[in-house]
Amino acid sequence: MRITLLGTGDAVGTPKIGCKCPACLDAKKGGKSKRYRPCLLFSDGNVNVLVDTGPDLRTQLIDNGIDKVDAVIWTHSHRDHTGGFGDFWRVKNFMPVYGEKRVLDYTLGEFHFMTFERHDQEMYIPFKIGDMEFTLFEVNHPPIDVSTGIRVRNNGKTAIVTGDTNLEIPERSLDLMRDTDLLLADAIFPRDIRVQKHMNIDDAVYLSKKVNAKRSIFIHLSHLFPPHDEAAQKYSLGYDGMIIDL
Ligand SMILES: [Zn+2]
Ligand SMILES: [Zn+2]
Ligand SMILES: [Zn+2]
Repeated sequence: MRITLLGTGDAVGTPKIGCKCPACLDAKKGGKSKRYRPCLLFSDGNVNVLVDTGPDLRTQLIDNGIDKVDAVIWTHSHRDHTGGFGDFWRVKNFMPVYGEKRVLDYTLGEFHFMTFERHDQEMYIPFKIGDMEFTLFEVNHPPIDVSTGIRVRNNGKTAIVTGDTNLEIPERSLDLMRDTDLLLADAIFPRDIRVQKHMNIDDAVYLSKKVNAKRSIFIHLSHLFPPHDEAAQKYSLGYDGMIIDL
């Protein structure tokens, strides 16, 4: 499968409006610190599935030459992961949308003016879109009730998206993440900043070792990291437009 990182930023995006920090200045000059809001593309070569639809969706699809989206999966209902869904207005009717019931209830309520084909999914029960198998699993992103990660399997390879989460991930979910070929992990802040909602980079590196990921790429990154080229010497940071073939 081919995975394209369409948006590796956090809710704010980089550059942050009005900010003149080193990462934001690099982003404004066109450097890799420029990060759109969360969106990932999974493709089996035929079917294209978006994981999350951040508010920058239209630009992400056009800039990356993605002409067709076959389905959308939402990890949770925060606006930085859902806000771009309205960009399918008059572009694609009855988009198949997948997610946990409460995530779909909330998000589809916000997008009541759109048409969609709703597919409620229970956590830990695999479902297929094209040749790819997806499984939602529970993570921990207080204060919201439900936030999910996603396991994707295709042709004997496995990728894990942690979704937005802190380190307190249920054991059943950790079991499902173990020995993955690729871990795409939330790592919003550098090591000196900690919040309840997300893993910082130290947490994400720890998780990667704990589940024995063969390769890890850190995403959902804020502008508070040093500029990308500098930070990426130390950590395996993703960047917008990055393509991984598994
Ligand atoms: Zn987020
Ligand atoms: Zn900044
Ligand atoms: Zn969130």
